[in-house]
Amino acid sequence: MKLLVVIDMQNDFITGSLGTKEAQEILPRVVQKVKDFDGCVFYTQDSHHSDYLKTQEGKLLTTLHCIYGTNGWEIPNKLEVAIRPKANHKIIKDTFGSEYLPYTIRKLWRLDGEDEIELCGVCTDICVISNALLLKTFFPEVKISVDASCCAGTTPEAHETALKAMKQCQIYIENVNEDEDQNLPHCCTCSHCGYNYTGVNNDEPPRLTCKLGIKSNLNFSTKSCKKYKET
Ligand SMILES: [Zn+2]
Repeated sequence: MKLLVVIDMQNDFITGSLGTKEAQEILPRVVQKVKDFDGCVFYTQDSHHSDYLKTQEGKLLTTLHCIYGTNGWEIPNKLEVAIRPKANHKIIKDTFGSEYLPYTIRKLWRLDGEDEIELCGVCTDICVISNALLLKTFFPEVKISVDASCCAGTTPEAHETALKAMKQCQIYIENVNEDEDQNLPHCCTCSHCGYNYTGVNNDEPPRLTCKLGIKSNLNFSTKSCKKYKET
């Protein structure tokens, strides 16, 4: 049996107060994934209340988001329509990981090595990773996987870092972006055109010309970087 867990695909994380262009980009893929999925779909909704700023999370992340019952808290209509006809379970949670999620799964099924729980959604580096590790803890013999192409992080770099951390904890990362250098951290920025350079793994400094055709005057740290781009 395969279960799909869609994490926090709510308006505030897509177009609202904590929205990102990456979250907007994955939305159609998540909708399609749910439509194509032949199995039970769980979906979580981050849910805060008027006391949000007094909570631990609110003290560190002061942006109001996903206030219960508001439009920002809702799931986008297209996704809602895709989820509705599926055998589905809504999980309301007031923090990153939901203990209710593994408890509910465990109450319903006795999962084993034949089974798989797949996750997608936002944010890769906060709620996806929290719930993936929680599920791995509860179900060590079940294959836990994450569809990287249907996840978005708080930043592209944080997304990549979280995928690596989950992989290290034996969570299967599917559909990794082939164009990986797109997401490598920049090592320096051209002072002329703002082009972000990434580096190479050898001692020879790469010859770089920026977008304006000006030869780079950067003090290039080649050892700290994995790749570089020539423009
Ligand atoms: Zn939250």
